Amino acid sequence: APPLELRGISKSFGGVAALRDVDFVLRRGEIHGLVGENGAGKSTLMKIIAGLHGQYDGRMAIDGRPVHFRSPREALAAGIGMVHQELSVVPDLSVAENVYLGQQPTKGGIVDWRAMMDGARRHLASLGIDVDPGARMGSLAIGLQQLIELARVLFSGARIVILDEPTSALSPPEVQRLFEVLRGVRASGRSIVFISHFLDDVLAISDTVTIFRNGRLIATEAAGTIDKGWLIQRMIGRGHEELEG
Ligand code: ADP
Ligand code: MG
Ligand code: MG
Repeated sequence: APPLELRGISKSFGGVAALRDVDFVLRRGEIHGLVGENGAGKSTLMKIIAGLHGQYDGRMAIDGRPVHFRSPREALAAGIGMVHQELSVVPDLSVAENVYLGQQPTKGGIVDWRAMMDGARRHLASLGIDVDPGARMGSLAIGLQQLIELARVLFSGARIVILDEPTSALSPPEVQRLFEVLRGVRASGRSIVFISHFLDDVLAISDTVTIFRNGRLIATEAAGTIDKGWLIQRMIGRGHEELEG
């Protein structure tokens, strides 16, 4: 069974349909890009997966096991983590404290700083993130803070990580560094959902791309077989709908 499978997902907000009968499958060790115009339903689907919307119709399964999350905590316990556009890092804490947020190692009832620094250093190095674990989070560039938030989500056991518009605030070198880290995460067998309206970024990093329009999943294709023009046409729905009659 795939790590994540959704069938017939529908979701309305006060009578307005945000998702209509969506089937979505995420494979192991895949980077799956999600594209679609503003309001197409991308974030709503990902929030359902990450436990932020308990109310929806349809079925979800992790490794073939039925699940229905009613909180982000439940989703994370099942191995699903999300990195939001607005980071949830704590600027006044160190990098290591942010990585360990809520699960600091203790010794004799107090935080074991050495264990935490060493553990954070090892974890960050394993992801190829070059940063001093003692540095104050708020002193770091936004691209690095985002990598550390990703590191925190992985450290708390996520096997599936959802990134919502991760490149919006990044410089081109920061985007490349994020991609390097994501490729390493993929190589470890974990799966990534990458939501972005930067189509060049999506095509550069994704193995598979899914297009949403007006609450519907329009197509899922291997990234290597499609181009930007094809994506845009599907996103805006002009041309091929005329062909379909
Ligand atoms: P996308 O992420 O593709 O831009 P969204 O999933 O955020 O799209 O939105 C899909 C639709 O659902 C839009 O019409 C949006 O206005 C609506 N929507 C999303 N979240 C809410 C909410 N919390 N309350 C009411 N309407 C919402
Ligand atoms: Mg969105
Ligand atoms: Mg949204």
